[in-house]
Amino acid sequence: MSPTEEERQRRGSGMTSQRTRERLIERLYEEGLSSPQVLEVIRRTPRHLFVDEALAHRAYEDTALPIGHNQTISQPYMVGRMTELLLAGGPLDKVLEIGTGCGYQTAVLAQLVERVFTVERIQSLQDRAKERLAELKLRNVVYRWGDGWEGWPALAPYNGIMVTAAARDVPQALLDQLAPGGRLVIPVGAGEVQDLLLIVREENGYSRHVLDSVRFVPLLNGPLA
Ligand code: SAH
Repeated sequence: MSPTEEERQRRGSGMTSQRTRERLIERLYEEGLSSPQVLEVIRRTPRHLFVDEALAHRAYEDTALPIGHNQTISQPYMVGRMTELLLAGGPLDKVLEIGTGCGYQTAVLAQLVERVFTVERIQSLQDRAKERLAELKLRNVVYRWGDGWEGWPALAPYNGIMVTAAARDVPQALLDQLAPGGRLVIPVGAGEVQDLLLIVREENGYSRHVLDSVRFVPLLNGPLA
């Protein structure tokens, strides 16, 4: 027997329903995400609020989606993967994020670490992200409109740094702003496909691990009004 319209509505609105969100979590688990904390945060973060209404019905697909200004909201798997890599060394109190975009990755991080400092070069994107995170009552985030190549030196060092756009090479400023034992997760490469790197600041120098092949929009130069 097919459900009545009323029943359908009670179960939630179609593609943003709880069931659709559960399916995404199952899929991320099957694809190899293993941290219960990270999966739980992705489960409870309403990704449909971070995209245009016209795309909301696709928000729980495991794909990147356009957010305007030629930018994209990262694929949920990649958000989870990078978050797991950042947290794998233990709890983090200060995390720097480069590339706020729509703020989805920021929202995930904010629920898992003490404080997030996030830098974005497109002011209007960041303003909108700020509003969304305020609506979600995520208050442990500080925003800066600026150039991510420079990091955020005034508040350094950071225990974790995550870059959500692909850099031609690893920005020296970010290496400098990493605390001892700190972890930097960054896609590096000039082509369409890049390497996801994990760089850890050791007592003497840095260790560098090449992990996955990834596709990110480029880390550009300079802030933009
Ligand atoms: N984490 C974001 C991903 C956004 S895409 C999300 O899930 O929505 C990458 C973002 O990096 C874009 O918003 C882009 O404007 C920003 N970006 C690119 N170059 C930058 C730079 N030099 N400094 C700061 N942000 C930059």
